[in-house]
Amino acid sequence: MEIKAAHVMVVTPHPDDAEYGVAGTVVRWVGQGQDVVYVVCTNGDKGTSDPNIKPEELARTREVEQTAAAHLLGVKEVVFLRRPDQGLEDTHEFRKEIVRFIRLYKPKTVVTADPYRRYLWHRDHRITGQVTLDAVFPYARDHLSYPDLLEEGLYTHKVDEVLLWGTEEVNCRFDITDTFHAKLAALRCHKSQVGHIPPEELENRLRERATSLAEGESFLLAEGFHRVEILR
Ligand SMILES: [Zn+2]
Repeated sequence: MEIKAAHVMVVTPHPDDAEYGVAGTVVRWVGQGQDVVYVVCTNGDKGTSDPNIKPEELARTREVEQTAAAHLLGVKEVVFLRRPDQGLEDTHEFRKEIVRFIRLYKPKTVVTADPYRRYLWHRDHRITGQVTLDAVFPYARDHLSYPDLLEEGLYTHKVDEVLLWGTEEVNCRFDITDTFHAKLAALRCHKSQVGHIPPEELENRLRERATSLAEGESFLLAEGFHRVEILR
């Protein structure tokens, strides 16, 4: 098994969530020479209010959109797990799949959705966050977790930190003042999701959110996360 090391692995429930959550920071990391990979869990085939679009067609469109957005941000690789939209479950198979990619890419940082946001939160976001946290600790770390992965050459790996977007408890903010436009451009690649929003309105919404996340900081625009450090 050829190990392809990356500094950052972003695990996103649907195509477009990563752009809302972390795209501005991704551009910063890429600019610093860090390799970033995306793992997209679902095929996003429920993400429309248009009754004329067939789910298969939507899934294909959303992969094209996600690939374009990732390319624009400088993401090195995008992996599509193609699990059913609104169908994620906290299963042994799903967890093992995430462990497989953690052991393959050996990231220092894993970024995903905060599973602990209360009340209204997309079920796929909650489950992606929960399964990814479990995969990071302890499953990717422990050699007895999945002995068959060892046989494939996928050895244990310790992630340093997990950053959770969509969180109610921000404890970590990154400056995206200079990368805000790249984030916006990447989000606009997801035409099936944001194409109906007037361009200025989309920019204003994003800017408002980024401004409020930067409150109290020395910079103007931010992305915010709950950072969990994994102690050695
Ligand atoms: Zn989503």
